[in-house]
Amino acid sequence: MSDKYAVCGNPIAHSRSPQIHSFFAKTLKDDLTYTTLLVPPGKFKETVDDFVSKGGKGLNITVPCKLEACAYADELSPYAKAAGAVNVLKFNQDGSVFGDNTDGRGFIYDLKRLNLPIRGQKVLLLGAGGAAQGLIKPVFEEQPLEVTIVNRTPQKAEKIAAECGYPLQVTGYEQLTAGYDLVVNCTSTSLRHELPPVPQEVLRHCKVAYDLMYATDEETSFVAEARSLGVPHCIDGLGMLIAQAALTYALWRGKTPDVNLSIEHFRSHA
Ligand code: NDP
Repeated sequence: MSDKYAVCGNPIAHSRSPQIHSFFAKTLKDDLTYTTLLVPPGKFKETVDDFVSKGGKGLNITVPCKLEACAYADELSPYAKAAGAVNVLKFNQDGSVFGDNTDGRGFIYDLKRLNLPIRGQKVLLLGAGGAAQGLIKPVFEEQPLEVTIVNRTPQKAEKIAAECGYPLQVTGYEQLTAGYDLVVNCTSTSLRHELPPVPQEVLRHCKVAYDLMYATDEETSFVAEARSLGVPHCIDGLGMLIAQAALTYALWRGKTPDVNLSIEHFRSHA
């Protein structure tokens, strides 16, 4: 019988993880099943226990379950600890549960793939939600010149900066001035075709504008805005999504999918 994996969250029907992991399995000639698992409100533990009792080997975790997944794991990777959130659980044969967070490393992987290293760069993170928090450790590990975070609700950014253990700078949207090399949109504004309130001057003078959100039919609002301002490298989050999935696949299966091939495939099969 094939090994069983799934992505869980609520809502979950929109998730592209089943297609991505099935594509990985096909290209690696690996035998597994990967489905979606809807988590009813307040039923994370019951849903996961049931999945494990039926032989489930691993889960990807999405909104709003990443914090509960953190609590469910017996052991956490340093990235999951730093992010305070888990996006992948591995159910070991001895019954123990390992939790990791591959989002931030997926982001770094994508930038390296595109030949856009962070080392020595001035980085601006827009937003202070779960995704932004998950980027901080992996970004600092790349030795940037400086990293600044800005958020609509400043207290959240201040809390992350106070607790992250890195020299993360905090500012307000109104205080932002040009001079950043890499501007990363970690807000959820592109979901609603809106823009974060970053001054156009800041975006116009950066080298790389990266939106964690991805869109397959048309550009995200942030990517479109950056492109219209003449930013040389405007990137959406599809590469990050596939790279973080490849890292979870490698954690479960000990085999590494071809990320470039997969990105090409999903760009052309929107
Ligand atoms: P959260 O809900 O945890 O955080 C949302 C953030 O967006 C908060 O900082 C919030 O600010 C900010 N925000 C929302 N609306 C506005 C607005 N109108 N103006 C300014 N700021 C705003 O979401 P996540 O961190 O989990 O996800 C953020 C994005 O990253 C999503 O688009 C998600 O799809 C994407 N993502 C992509 C991944 C990938 O692999 N490509 C992986 C993970 C996430 P405030 O605190 O003030 O509310």
